[in-house]
Amino acid sequence: MPPVTTQQTVRPFVRRSRLLHGVTHAVGTRHGGVSPAPYATLNVGLSTPDSEANVLENRRLLLEACGAPGQVFSARLEHGRHVSVFRDGVDGTPATQEDFFRGDGVVSNSPGTSFLMTFADCVPLLFWDPYRRVIGLAHAGWRGTALRISEAMIETVQAEFGCRPSDILVSIGPSIGPCCYDVGPQVLENFAENGTYASVRPAGEKCMLDLWNTNRCQLASVGVRDEHIEMLNICTSCHVADYFSHRAEHGQTGRFGACIGLASKG
Ligand SMILES: [Zn+2]
Repeated sequence: MPPVTTQQTVRPFVRRSRLLHGVTHAVGTRHGGVSPAPYATLNVGLSTPDSEANVLENRRLLLEACGAPGQVFSARLEHGRHVSVFRDGVDGTPATQEDFFRGDGVVSNSPGTSFLMTFADCVPLLFWDPYRRVIGLAHAGWRGTALRISEAMIETVQAEFGCRPSDILVSIGPSIGPCCYDVGPQVLENFAENGTYASVRPAGEKCMLDLWNTNRCQLASVGVRDEHIEMLNICTSCHVADYFSHRAEHGQTGRFGACIGLASKG
């Protein structure tokens, strides 16, 4: 008989929002995975040069720690304002071979369906309407924020599921903060061209862009109540020991994941 080997794997450290306690969700850190540096350790980004086997194992570990129910769909990002809609079944059909959704946001009332997005400075936005039992997940980098992806998420759940903005809870997760996110004039011009308010603070030649507050303002402008918006205020660049940061690590880094899902009807 060969000796029994036990694989020592640290349980992934994930963060949960108190505001979203009624729904299955988690935001991963960089701890508890299997990847070596510079992707150490819980890298869930398939677009990184890390080995695919490591990334898939890390995704499995993260989803297990999240408790993500049913079929899991991950994003095919477009850095735009398209929001995919999953309704009742999976996208209106009972099952699909595809395991992705298109765009930078997704909303769903579909039981037995979970969603995963990956981050390394861009803002994770998790949405939950406890009355209509509708979930949402969005990825807001500066481009998505300039195109008002937060607003698009709320408008989509209103139109598709009859959600009331005043019922919707939103958690704004770890991302690069206003302490570290200096941007050049072309970024701010892009906000101006789209008629989007940018929360900024001047810093010499540059400006510090506050993606958290900019998204909060967008949510408030479409009727989300202030007390229903949670800002974790965790800067990925300041906390690079716990989160991947594209800017702080000069692009040589992994991606942490955020997931949310609705359990199957019992
Ligand atoms: Zn910072």
